[in-house]
Amino acid sequence: MAIDNAAERLDIIRSRIERARRRFGPPPARVELVAVSKTFAADDVRPFLDAGQRVFGENRVQEAAAKWPGLRGSYDGIELHLIGPLQSNKAKEAVALFDVIETVDREKIAVALKAEMDRMGKRPRLLVQVNIGLEPQKAGIAPAEAVAFVARCRDVHGLAIEGVMAIPPEGVPSGPYFAHMAELAAAAGATTLSMGMSADFETAIAMGATHVRVGSALFGHRSAP
Ligand SMILES: *Cc1c(COP(=O)(O)O)cnc(C)c1O
Repeated sequence: MAIDNAAERLDIIRSRIERARRRFGPPPARVELVAVSKTFAADDVRPFLDAGQRVFGENRVQEAAAKWPGLRGSYDGIELHLIGPLQSNKAKEAVALFDVIETVDREKIAVALKAEMDRMGKRPRLLVQVNIGLEPQKAGIAPAEAVAFVARCRDVHGLAIEGVMAIPPEGVPSGPYFAHMAELAAAAGATTLSMGMSADFETAIAMGATHVRVGSALFGHRSAP
C-alpha cells in the first residue's frame, strides 16, 4: 500500500496550516507540522520524507525503535516526537530514540528521564502532557496540577520543560479545551503548545498551537489505533 501522492497531501495540509496561522493573528512565528506515522510502515513514511517532511510523531517506543533507526540512516534532519504514554522502564530507549518527548506526565517519569538523560548525555526536548478533559482512560497530569507540575519538573527534577501537550475529548468541540491549554501554557511559561489533530488542527492554531499532530489526514485511515 505505497502512498504515491505524499507530496500533494503534505502540500494540502501545509497550506491549511499556513492559512489558519495567518487568519487568527497575532500568529505564532511558525506552526510545526508533526506528521503522525504510527501504525504505518517505513515504506509508507518514505514518500513523506522524500517530499521534504522531517518532523514525525510516534506513540509507541517499540514501534518507533523498529521503524526509525533505519529511516534515520537514509535521511538527514529527522526530528522524532514521542506522543504516546511512556513507562519508566522504557525511559532509556525513549531518550535514545526521540528528539522530543511530549508525554511527561508524572514524577516517576520525570525522575527516570532525568537519570537517563544524565547517563547518556542526551537531552531530548520535553513537554508535559495535560489530561485537559480529565478523562480516566487518558494519560496526562490534571489541568489544576499542570502548572505546579511543570515548575516541579524544572526546579526539583532539573528538567527544562519547553511546553505542554494535550488530546482533548473526542466527540465534543475542542475549542474550549484548546483555550484552556493556552491559558495553562502561558501560566507555566511554556513556549511550545502541542495540540490539534487531523479533525481540529485549524481550531488549535486559532487558539495558539505551535505544533499540530496530524496523522490520518496525511497517511490515511489507520486500521489499528
Ligand atoms: C494518533 C494521534 C494523533 C493523530 O491523530 P489523527 O486524528 O490521525 O490526525 C495525534 N496525537 C496523538 C497523541 C495521537 O496518538
